[in-house]
Amino acid sequence: MRLALVGAAAALLAAAVALGGAPGLAYPRVASAAEERSAEGPTCRVVGHDVSEPGVAACRDALEAAAPLLADLLPWRVPAGTRLVVHVYGDLDAYAAAMRAAGAPELADNWAATLYASRESHVVLQPRGGPAIRALTGGLPEYTRWQLVHEAVHQVLARSGVPTYDLWPGWLEEGLCEEVAARAVAARQPAGRVAVADADRRHLVKDALARGRLVGLERLLHTRVQAFDPERLAYAHMASFVRFLATDAARFRALLAKATAMPAPPPGVRARRQVVFERDFARLLVDVFGPLDALEARWRAAIEREAPRWFEPSRSSQWLPDGRLLVASFPGGSAQCIATAPPPAGGYVLEGTFRLLAAGDGAQADLIVAYAQRDDARFVKLALGAKGYVTMLAYAAGHWQERYRVSVEVPPATFAVGTDVAFALTVADGRLRLAVGGRTLFDAEAPPGFDLATGGYGVGAWDGAAVFDEPRATPRR
Ligand SMILES: [Zn+2]
Repeated sequence: MRLALVGAAAALLAAAVALGGAPGLAYPRVASAAEERSAEGPTCRVVGHDVSEPGVAACRDALEAAAPLLADLLPWRVPAGTRLVVHVYGDLDAYAAAMRAAGAPELADNWAATLYASRESHVVLQPRGGPAIRALTGGLPEYTRWQLVHEAVHQVLARSGVPTYDLWPGWLEEGLCEEVAARAVAARQPAGRVAVADADRRHLVKDALARGRLVGLERLLHTRVQAFDPERLAYAHMASFVRFLATDAARFRALLAKATAMPAPPPGVRARRQVVFERDFARLLVDVFGPLDALEARWRAAIEREAPRWFEPSRSSQWLPDGRLLVASFPGGSAQCIATAPPPAGGYVLEGTFRLLAAGDGAQADLIVAYAQRDDARFVKLALGAKGYVTMLAYAAGHWQERYRVSVEVPPATFAVGTDVAFALTVADGRLRLAVGGRTLFDAEAPPGFDLATGGYGVGAWDGAAVFDEPRATPRR
């Protein structure tokens, strides 16, 4: 029997690869034996596999920093003297090998998991664990922090003597993991910022509601993330619903207490017992919060009130302490961060500065316009490469529309890694015109059928990372 709780990142790899900007470049890797380092704190032990000593220590510090939050939000306590155990991996291959070795090959393409059998968690440094990004982020990428805390919640539940922990329905357990992780990350945001990852989950659910695709309670209470495509949409709904429930703190505490005390279903096949428990938990929810119809109406109203400013179709973006935006892709993939507000009417200029960080072969920053239909994305982007190019690409209907590719060569120094680049992309009259340092480098007709006027704008990176000022769109000049 394969016993595994699956982390939140499952569908990301496919999404990241699907949105890559150019074909076929393998991420450079160095083969090495798994090198183990560990670091302990009062509540946790972190074992690093191909992770630098500062990286392992940063993971330990992140878990220790979250310990008071776990104690505050969760009604469970691990036995005295027990530490949470988290394995962190420098890349997906090492993680995947560990999952296969643990007898859970189905988790090999996940990026985070907690195993029932060992009650230990496994997390890949996400999206990148290199020293440049760790230095910028104060030790640890935000998305890794998110996943560490998420898995820690699973582990506290598993280790604290709740006899039915392996039967809990996804909506409550995964929703709780996500909510605690979101709060851990929220506590570290610069003033006035909402974590992009958190805003993204809110946007996913609000977008689903606007399109008549909300996963309502009749379905959500019986949803398993591993059996939902895309998984991140299921996680976002569970996170949204648990956050909504937790706004009624007294009832939410009562719900967790009653869930903890719930008698186990009759013995039998575990999957069958989970189905029974899902029904039991649905009844428990009604006992504590009232009829589902009225509860869902209040949840929908809460979703309507959400006002996320950014979303990330592919990850991962985070606000840095100095207010800039780090956009870092998973190896071989892309990252995108898109504004939810429409651009100024009548043509606009997307402007700011960016700096490429040394990373994968790509070292490419992206400027994205005309973004529409998140669940069937359409957009146009300009790819600005450190190798000396500006390339317009169009994505629609699940494919790069290659016939619209327009590329010009520029001197490689134009976007050199580590150099601040001031850009102004004018989107008007059906054309894209890019000026860098006041000089026009690219001017071309936009592909037909893309919504330049009201589609979203944003920034991204491909197979690497870039730091942007907060992107801004101003009326055309
Ligand atoms: Zn999880």
